[in-house]
Amino acid sequence: MKRREFLKGLAVGGAAVAAGACHGDVAPAGTVRVSNDVPVLGDYDVCVVGAGPGGVGAAIAAARAGKRTILVEHYGYPGGVGTNCNTPTFFFDPYKGVQYLRGIADEFVRRLAKRGAAWFLTHDERYQPDYSRPVGDLPILDRVRTRVEDMRVAYHDFLDEAGVEKLFYTHLTGAVRDGDRITAAIVDCLEGPRAIRAKVFIDATGAAHLVHRAGGRTRLAPPDKTMHKSIWATLSPGPHDTPEVYKENCRTYHKLYREHRERLPKNIWTSLAIGLSSGYVNGNSCDSRDMTRMDAEMRRHNFELLECYKRELKGFDDAFIETAIHQVGSRSGRHIVGRATVDRRLVTTAAMPDDPVMPFVREWGEHAASMDNGFCGTVHGNFDGLGAVPYGALVPVDFSNVLACGLCISVEEDYVKTIRMQPNCLVSGQVAGTAAALSLDATRGDVGSVPYAELRKRLEKQNHRVDGVW
Ligand SMILES: Cc1cc2nc3c(=O)[nH]c(=O)nc-3n(C[C@H](O)[C@H](O)[C@H](O)COP(=O)(O)OP(=O)(O)OC[C@H]3O[C@@H](n4cnc5c(N)ncnc54)[C@H](O)[C@@H]3O)c2cc1C
Repeated sequence: MKRREFLKGLAVGGAAVAAGACHGDVAPAGTVRVSNDVPVLGDYDVCVVGAGPGGVGAAIAAARAGKRTILVEHYGYPGGVGTNCNTPTFFFDPYKGVQYLRGIADEFVRRLAKRGAAWFLTHDERYQPDYSRPVGDLPILDRVRTRVEDMRVAYHDFLDEAGVEKLFYTHLTGAVRDGDRITAAIVDCLEGPRAIRAKVFIDATGAAHLVHRAGGRTRLAPPDKTMHKSIWATLSPGPHDTPEVYKENCRTYHKLYREHRERLPKNIWTSLAIGLSSGYVNGNSCDSRDMTRMDAEMRRHNFELLECYKRELKGFDDAFIETAIHQVGSRSGRHIVGRATVDRRLVTTAAMPDDPVMPFVREWGEHAASMDNGFCGTVHGNFDGLGAVPYGALVPVDFSNVLACGLCISVEEDYVKTIRMQPNCLVSGQVAGTAAALSLDATRGDVGSVPYAELRKRLEKQNHRVDGVW
């Protein structure tokens, strides 16, 4: 039997202060000592932390490239915000009639389609599946609606077939750092604390928790500069039986909004499409106390909204809140400070990076920070043409063997829209997993110096075009 190994006298965290940190982003101050020796769970080529779309894409790409890959996740199932916050809509917005984003995102939606669980959305803004339009083999030129439980199982199957080792019900608590390398992730498994050693780490936590805990520089915008948070609640019986009732309710709602605000609860969100959602609550999504406050506030608020629906709208007389999502949904949190950044210049001008890895449509803005700013973001607009994320936006400045993907890549707050949707996160994960594997083949795990031409070639073989040109 293999002798059990321990990391002795383990130092978790590190003394570095996150220089890019803004509001409330307190980097690990000083060294935290773990009192007992921590058993080593295993040695891997690639350790991915976070099994949202980013982490799933990364783990699959690394495992398919033949690397021994472990995927660590706090919840018991994959999917991230899509499955723990009930958002089963994949925003595949086409560009000039072309499905510019494919790769693993396309593959995943086809898997859902094979399960009979992928339809294009209705065009009446109800955000419901249009059952007369299953996705099948059609090009994905519209938003796709699926079902949360199908997503969970399809993600499990996807990971298992690629040979990824899954370690769920496990929380990342720290990291062991040696200079510019992370050598181990410290996790809290159900059986106790463990150390996971790997040659390359991928931060797919949606909020750069790994880089932050290892003392790397991160960026966190103040709450009034980020999109508001949400807690969706599911009503029973379901609302808006028919498009006609939905449209009538929308008209009523907008009239109330314009003329009788006093009849609406404070901070009501102007979308009636998805059921019920507390809106415009904001705070710091990387602060446990603030998240606790927002959670309580929004869950209570949803009952106020329910009363309003019953009172003012049609078809809600017997409605009650059947369930609500597991946690506060945060549309943007902490991001790594990368060697490059998706910034104003890349999004609002025709500039293209030298090392593009993922295309995006040049639109920015979206959900506002508060009701005072209306529904759209404080800064919003669009600029024709496809832009692209530079490879350097996935590479944290402080590490040579760490990559980020999904929501927590290096991006300026106003431009988070360009990279945050689930298809984008799946694909940036695919890029990170492919780059991690390439670094092990070509540069001894130094992710910052992977040969770009080879990375691009490998991605193209996986049905991905780094600039969206097909
Ligand atoms: C309310 C809301 C509605 C949205 N609606 C849509 C939509 O309709 N369509 C769309 O395409 N996108 C939508 N999005 C955006 C999209 O869901 C997210 O941007 C996307 O899921 C981010 O993917 P990710 O993999 O980077 O991070 P996440 O999805 O956040 O996944 C990160 C994972 O890491 C895990 N994790 C975090 N910290 C730790 C830790 N310390 N230890 C272990 N595991 C950890 C988390 O549990 C999670 O599973 C929505 C987002 C929100 C908040």
